[in-house]
Amino acid sequence: MTEPTTGYCPHCGRGDVAPTPEAYEQQRQRAEQAEAAIARARHLHRPVGVVAAAEAGIEPDCATCGPNRWPCPTYTALDQPAPAAAEATDNQEQ
Ligand SMILES: [Zn+2]
Repeated sequence: MTEPTTGYCPHCGRGDVAPTPEAYEQQRQRAEQAEAAIARARHLHRPVGVVAAAEAGIEPDCATCGPNRWPCPTYTALDQPAPAAAEATDNQEQ
């Protein structure tokens, strides 16, 4: 799939390039599905036994990963910037 170019056209240099209505709708649906997938992952990887763990002075459990795994690697990864986004930020700093 060819990504629609935002901003300037690489061929003519004009700045009026926008996604077609079909491409916009496709991107909107992809974003909606991605948000739903993140929500499902967050629901699966949630802390359990928080009060008991706090009283015992240990880490809470992850509902999916198991005992004493909170915050688990999956939950932590959901809060990290995507690799492409992190790379773009790195490039801006140079
Ligand atoms: Zn987990």
